[in-house]
Amino acid sequence: MLINLTPQLQKQQASLREALVDLIRIPSVCDEGAGGFPFGPGVDNALRKVLEIAGGLGFRTHYGEGGYYGYAEVGEGQEMLGIMGHLDVVPAGNLEDWATHPFDPVERDGMLYGRGTQDDKGPTLAALFAVRTLMDAGVTFNKRIRFIFGTDEETLWRGIQRYKEREEIPSMGFTPDARFPLVYAEKGLLQCVLEAKNESGLRISGGSAFNAVPDSATLYSTHHDDLAEELHSLKFDFARNNEQLIVTGQAAHAMEPECGVNAIARLCIGLDALGTESGAVRFIAREIGEDPYATRIFGTCEDKPSGKLRLNVGKLDIGDTEHISIDCRIPVTVPKEKVVRKLSAAAQRYGLAYREFDWLAPIYLPLDHFLIKTLARVYGLISGDLITPPIATGGATYARAMDNCVAFGALFPNEPNTEHQPNERAVLKNLYRAMEIYAQAIYELTR
Ligand SMILES: [Zn+2]
Repeated sequence: MLINLTPQLQKQQASLREALVDLIRIPSVCDEGAGGFPFGPGVDNALRKVLEIAGGLGFRTHYGEGGYYGYAEVGEGQEMLGIMGHLDVVPAGNLEDWATHPFDPVERDGMLYGRGTQDDKGPTLAALFAVRTLMDAGVTFNKRIRFIFGTDEETLWRGIQRYKEREEIPSMGFTPDARFPLVYAEKGLLQCVLEAKNESGLRISGGSAFNAVPDSATLYSTHHDDLAEELHSLKFDFARNNEQLIVTGQAAHAMEPECGVNAIARLCIGLDALGTESGAVRFIAREIGEDPYATRIFGTCEDKPSGKLRLNVGKLDIGDTEHISIDCRIPVTVPKEKVVRKLSAAAQRYGLAYREFDWLAPIYLPLDHFLIKTLARVYGLISGDLITPPIATGGATYARAMDNCVAFGALFPNEPNTEHQPNERAVLKNLYRAMEIYAQAIYELTR
């Protein structure tokens, strides 16, 4: 059942837009510890600003733990619906790539440009103002609705962890930080390191992050004619000068390594073909190579809800020690231990020791779960899109932080995904449509 909110929604559109402009103007990029704030003054200002906005809309607000998190609540009742958004943004990157200033929002052709318009200030505010439309319509809530504002989602999730340690956990919820219709499965995310002593004398550095396919890998050496010949015959791209040889690839997100070209893997394949003492190089070349599914190690590892396992060698550093950084996205029904066992056994054969760096457990709610059914139905009714199926992904959202929680919007199918990119922008019409979907969904979930 939908309720008629048309006049209330129309009334809130301008306020939503205005609040978003104010929030985008605050460059809330993580600057750890700066100014005595956990994630710097920008993030703290954004947190205070959103609490001020929520207070103005009639929420009870709380600024938590010196700025690690905040929340805003309305309604009465035992149960609590949680809505988790984040206020930090990724850095703007190269300003020359932007047509307008990332922190001075501009509207063009119905789109609002600025860092955070899509990820995640726009969607968070759309859900916040959605609640206001319900209040304006005289709706009473039989559960409390609590917005939980995170402050370092783009880095290490310390804000949301603090919240979990100290505050009440919602009985269910959603995070407006992905796409519609909704994300019902997120793969397990394992980041680990394989290490050994450097007994080969090689010097290599490649990649800069676990979660990105490296687009370059450098061998520091003055003798590389044989390697150049080998790479040439393999048709791998590279450049060289007197001191180094640089293999080039193509960057991609680690949740879809098949979309990139792993420069580290290519350098290792070339070196291994010529013979090397390095366990790290041989391991990468022989056990993984250019296979994003690492089939040699894991066999066919996939499940119906979430598809294939993905493995990315994100970094390789060979200096005093050998150091491989691996990002692995594990299907939701596959136990982590099984993956760790196979990976560490394979590594051991090359003298490499396994060490876990980070682990985010998977989420998976069956499609007939109350929350999934409700959100999918509301989305379908309002958008008219009855075709796009719920999504399974290798990505990570705050939905993982709590039980009975999924990612829900605010990007529509076919809407360009500009998060983390230059010229990030939100289609305002879609943001208003998202506000409507959130309002109806919150209404349903608080009956
Ligand atoms: Zn986000």
